[in-house]
Amino acid sequence: MNIDWPTIRTGDADALHGATIELSGWMIPLDPLAGSVDYFLLGADEPCCGGCVPRNPLTSIEVHAAMPIAPQADALTLRGRLVRLVDDPAGWRYRLVDATPLERVEMPPRTFSRRAFLASGAALGLTACAPGRFGGYTEAHEGAAQTESAPAPAWQPPAGTLTIDMHSHGGRVIVSRNLSIGAHRPFIPLAAPMRAGGMNVICLAIVTDTTVTRVADNRKRFEAWRDPQPGELYALGQTEFQRAHELIERQQMRLVTNAASLTTSGPLGPCAIISAEGADFLEGQVDRVDEAYTQHQLRHLQLTHYRVNELGDIQTEPPVHGGLTDTGVQVIRRCNALGIVVDVAHGTYDLVKRAADTSTKPLVLSHSALATHPGARSRLITPDHARVIAGTGGVIGVWPSSGTFKDLHAMAEGVKRMADVVGVEHVGLGTDMLGFISPPVFRSYEQLPDLASALLLAGFSPEEVGAILGGNYRRVFQASVG
Ligand SMILES: [Zn+2]
Ligand SMILES: [Zn+2]
Repeated sequence: MNIDWPTIRTGDADALHGATIELSGWMIPLDPLAGSVDYFLLGADEPCCGGCVPRNPLTSIEVHAAMPIAPQADALTLRGRLVRLVDDPAGWRYRLVDATPLERVEMPPRTFSRRAFLASGAALGLTACAPGRFGGYTEAHEGAAQTESAPAPAWQPPAGTLTIDMHSHGGRVIVSRNLSIGAHRPFIPLAAPMRAGGMNVICLAIVTDTTVTRVADNRKRFEAWRDPQPGELYALGQTEFQRAHELIERQQMRLVTNAASLTTSGPLGPCAIISAEGADFLEGQVDRVDEAYTQHQLRHLQLTHYRVNELGDIQTEPPVHGGLTDTGVQVIRRCNALGIVVDVAHGTYDLVKRAADTSTKPLVLSHSALATHPGARSRLITPDHARVIAGTGGVIGVWPSSGTFKDLHAMAEGVKRMADVVGVEHVGLGTDMLGFISPPVFRSYEQLPDLASALLLAGFSPEEVGAILGGNYRRVFQASVG
């Protein structure tokens, strides 16, 4: 059966789950360095460049081909079995499996080689308007920015600015919930969009509760649905940390492990700080904080996620412990002593208050937004909740959820409201890249110049934009990690 893109966009294709279909579109390899591939995206629209990957699950689908296919210059028609995805952590809605090209595909004049990719703008980041400064490319980007005639003001970062995302699962660092793909699902480009958008550093967050959480309430939220086996989440942590390092290596990114390497590596190219969303991998054993610090270079630890764990209560489930547990207190002390940023995102207000009393270093709440009266299970926070973080000298990352903000301008206004409550020196950016069920308003690092412009329009000075987009987190990282 031949289907068209409106069938995908409207969700009518749900009814074709398991059926053999034919669909025409543009082949978009997720790793432009790879040559022939058996895993790629099929998009409704022609891709614009080698490093540009669509994010919209209504205009592109995942493809597992029956055999590797060389990148195609023209659109092609694929036949395969359509699979409707229900809780895909990357947000994809449909996958075509055992896919084969319907016609004999034209072989491109040359395979898209690593050399060709490196020679392209996507690899070097020679894209207009990149806010962050990478050594050697600053002049090129400034020249490009000056020739732009866009009405929005372009942000010129003050000297020494480093842009930092406080919370990211970029590159698809998280191990898939789908056990058949598991730890082996392909990465997608991370360094190229960071260069293109001028993002210097990301806190690259693994997640260690994925095997026991699932999407609930008609795809609206995550919840834990079973208890883990002893050792299960520790083992998942080992796999996830390993995958994070593999991603960093394959993308040729730099690892930041202390304030000195942040200063030296940050301006040179895309960098990562190893981070964990949820301390579930500790399984309540405080000495594993030391192990993660030394063996996996963990430098940013979020205490809880979607499971009420050994450390404390979460916003999305009824409280069990009355906030932070004694184990949670010990973990914070260990983080303070070793040099690990403590992140209390997802924790309840009670958890945050005890964490603030415990920590000798500033706290981070990496991804949320303000609400006057957050509903039950809401991930948003009240002004008082935000003030507790600011009271430690810490930073709250504003989160681009499309349930909260309709576009980047609304998000910039959300940043303004947060700054009005806690002061601009306590506000940051936590994109939660590839962590959403529904595509957020900030979906790609290539949007960073647009976000910076929106922040200028919202009334922030260029220096304040620099503080929000990195400087404030840098201060906390230096104070915590040293
Ligand atoms: Zn989260
Ligand atoms: Zn996340």
